[in-house]
Amino acid sequence: MMHMQETVLHLKMTKMAHILRVQSAALKAVHDYMYENGVVQSMPVILSPETDPLNHPHFDASIEYYGQKLHLTKSMILHKQLALLNEGFDKIYIMSPNVRLEQGSLGETGRHLFEFTQVDIELKDADKTDFMAFVDGMIASVFSFVKSECADDLKALGRRLRMPELPLKVYESEDLKTQYGDDFERIVSEREKDPFWMLNFKREFYDREDKERSGYYHNYDVFWPEGYGEALSGGEREWEHREILRRMAERKTDVGSYKRYLEVASTGLIPQTVGGGLGIERMVRFLTGQTHVRDVALFPRVPGERIAF
Ligand code: ASP
Ligand code: MG
Repeated sequence: MMHMQETVLHLKMTKMAHILRVQSAALKAVHDYMYENGVVQSMPVILSPETDPLNHPHFDASIEYYGQKLHLTKSMILHKQLALLNEGFDKIYIMSPNVRLEQGSLGETGRHLFEFTQVDIELKDADKTDFMAFVDGMIASVFSFVKSECADDLKALGRRLRMPELPLKVYESEDLKTQYGDDFERIVSEREKDPFWMLNFKREFYDREDKERSGYYHNYDVFWPEGYGEALSGGEREWEHREILRRMAERKTDVGSYKRYLEVASTGLIPQTVGGGLGIERMVRFLTGQTHVRDVALFPRVPGERIAF
């Protein structure tokens, strides 16, 4: 539990000013990159009847309002797809607050907050190669802007950042698992010097599975190097109603929780898109070299901990 005094000390930490300046520069670089690439920004939604299922154990975060059950946003994946029904634009992003009431054991990972914000991106008529090149460019812009704008802050924090070599390296998760065993994500993140991609994770119903190669998913994560772990998750999306239903059954997803989404899918309206979400607190933790995401948040929500403010 963060007590009153602890909270005040946390808020008054001198390093916080350096961290927030780095965060401001990083976010400016992200916004500028989006603007320059014609990616339009949507405002986030916080409450919706249907949200990302998050296929891992977590607590329910929903309320009832005028007889309707509304979930706090776990991710805006479904909204991103629907947003691209508009024919006037084909790229969208959202600075999206997510509430994921994770189990307390995740408080120790250094990477989890039960309330955090991600840069959520979705591109229409594009594939994973396009998306990966887009994100490579975004990461390079962030590094370059932060390095030039925040040299004094990085120095005060004792952080040396190297410019990543582009294109970022790409690994197949299967290969890494064979080589390093079940703990491959941690091992490879610790070994690498630059952010890198890992392809193919069995995730939610909305990531597209290869038609010819069952069990191969056209999705990916970006990892921060130096052991900082997962940075972004996303993929090419499934749009076919029949396939979505098959994947839901396989993932034991409750179809009743996705009635409207499935209705749209059944009329063939889900656009063919690709996308992903990059955790902002995780990015700032890496850029500033902090131990835990709690260190970069003014009001951290760490799984399992009580909150003072
Ligand atoms: N935003 C992610 C995506 O686009 C989903 C997630 O947050 O895990 O796939
Ligand atoms: Mg993920």
